[in-house]
Amino acid sequence: MSIAENVAEVRARIEAAAKGRRVLLVAASKMNGADRVREAVAAGVDACGENRVQELVEKNAAHAYDGAPLHFIGHLQKNKIKYLVGVADLIESVDSPGLLTLIDRRAEKLGLVQDVLLEVNIGREEAKSGLLREDVDACAAFAASLAHVRVRGLMAIPPAAASEAETRAYFASMRELFVDIAAKKYDNTSMDFLSMGMSGDFEAAIEEGANMVRVGSAIFGARDYSRPAGRQA
Ligand SMILES: *Cc1c(COP(=O)(O)O)cnc(C)c1O
Repeated sequence: MSIAENVAEVRARIEAAAKGRRVLLVAASKMNGADRVREAVAAGVDACGENRVQELVEKNAAHAYDGAPLHFIGHLQKNKIKYLVGVADLIESVDSPGLLTLIDRRAEKLGLVQDVLLEVNIGREEAKSGLLREDVDACAAFAASLAHVRVRGLMAIPPAAASEAETRAYFASMRELFVDIAAKKYDNTSMDFLSMGMSGDFEAAIEEGANMVRVGSAIFGARDYSRPAGRQA
């Protein structure tokens, strides 16, 4: 199956799960080279999501993302912020007031407003980034004081080991949090996007309220970690 065929099939599955709601498809393109990313863009994905700053910078220089918004979806490090602000249309993985402050400063310097999502560690996993559920509200409230950051919603990745039922419960819990924070109407915050669901669970995520899904292997095929990025078959 070609990337275009895969995108069409994923779209059809999204539509069936969304029952008339609009759901944005983000192609998670890690380890896929610029040519393959271009194919996904040509097939009409709504955005490209990149995990690693270096890959993002290289593929962006190769114009891989031209024609589609670019999201950063990987672990966010303070020293990499300068490569992302004003380059990524949406930084999906912000998980502390400290990162918000640094993004705000950089955005102010560039004279722009950076859109971000707050990442939630919904499964409370030790090794995973993301805010704990109970800390999200304070982080959104803090963002209200920053003129150059706009919080556009929430992102989460449930634990990989969770059962289908547990994963659904995590998605539902995210949806509740999303609605709660939207109701607070903080300045500089608009709860537009609930980003959750990947190749293995995007239909469940949509049924539980996601309006943005990040799909990698169902579009690009299985990732081969033994080969360098750009050399995927
Ligand atoms: C890789 C990745 C995805 C997509 O994963 P697949 O299982 O290949 O669909 C989604 N979100 C994030 C943050 C990722 O790193």
